[in-house]
Amino acid sequence: MDCLFCKIVEGTIPSNKVLENDHVIVFHDIHPAAPTHVLIIPKKHISSMNEITTEDLPLIGEIHSAALEAAKRLGVQESGYRLINNCGRDGEQTVHHLHYHLLGGTRLGALTSLSDSHR
Ligand code: AMP
Ligand code: ZN
Repeated sequence: MDCLFCKIVEGTIPSNKVLENDHVIVFHDIHPAAPTHVLIIPKKHISSMNEITTEDLPLIGEIHSAALEAAKRLGVQESGYRLINNCGRDGEQTVHHLHYHLLGGTRLGALTSLSDSHR
């Protein structure tokens, strides 16, 4: 399958890993949008949040657990962080392998500051 993140899972494309276990990998985003910006991905190929099934629910727990462990290792647990999933066109999803962005290391601003025109 021609999937960028599956290649990162396989190791054919390199990544700067924060942690890895049997189920998930956490690695630094190549274009960081904040001082701390990592991606949490399942090793299993799931195209987007829309394709999550009930059998994947334990994996979502693994993703949250890995996100918390990464926040600890990266030193943002106390200062805070944001976990984001972009899904589909309006979510601006560009890589079609389920992933969650963990952002921190600065004040990220309120969600209402994303756009004034929709309030
Ligand atoms: P999204 O827009 O939610 O689909 O996020 C995809 C993310 O993957 C973007 O933030 C990219 O900067 C990031 N990205 C793309 N290629 C790589 C790569 N080879 N290694 C690390 N991050 C990547
Ligand atoms: Zn994939």
